[in-house]
Amino acid sequence: MNLARESIELLEQAARILWFEGTKHGLRDREWMALRFLSRANRFSRTPSALASYVGTTRGTASFIIGELERLGYLERKRSATDKRSVTLSVTQQGKKFLVRDPVNVLVEAVAVLDDDVKIRFRDTFRHVLDQSDAAEQRHHTDVCKRCIFLREDRITTDNKTTVEFSCRLFRAPIAEAEVDLLCTSFEHHRQ
Ligand code: SF4
Repeated sequence: MNLARESIELLEQAARILWFEGTKHGLRDREWMALRFLSRANRFSRTPSALASYVGTTRGTASFIIGELERLGYLERKRSATDKRSVTLSVTQQGKKFLVRDPVNVLVEAVAVLDDDVKIRFRDTFRHVLDQSDAAEQRHHTDVCKRCIFLREDRITTDNKTTVEFSCRLFRAPIAEAEVDLLCTSFEHHRQ
């Protein structure tokens, strides 16, 4: 039995839940993917170009998806106060509520009932597979700040109290503790 091939065959079948013809609860598969991504993305990745890169589409198609999600009230775009050409996308409260109907939740729930150590192995296995395929195809996948080569961690001790401050060496910006678990399309992992 080829365990590696059998695993990927099962992954392919699980992915059928992510990719489908037509709509589910009124959204196409790419619109669900966009809404899901934008609800988990950090401030650097909530842009039309980062969305296009994550969904794997052109800027034109990403614009169409954004327009559709805006029309339904699930997304809003805000112009930057400093650079009027730059736009940040935010999932609205209505969009957040709608995500409980995300078709992918059936997979999330199936994983959620596993023991924590199994979940950690499951997650780390997918990361390993993605890291290896990135290296083979000379690309980067999207992942969380806390694993990124650009994240800087400074420990500051004052009055016997130590606090940790995070910053991004790529964007030269501070990163709040709550942001280190958010997704970023500029993520780059440590190469061994
Ligand atoms: S540290 Fe890495 S993942 Fe985090 S914002 Fe910077 S580039 Fe993105």
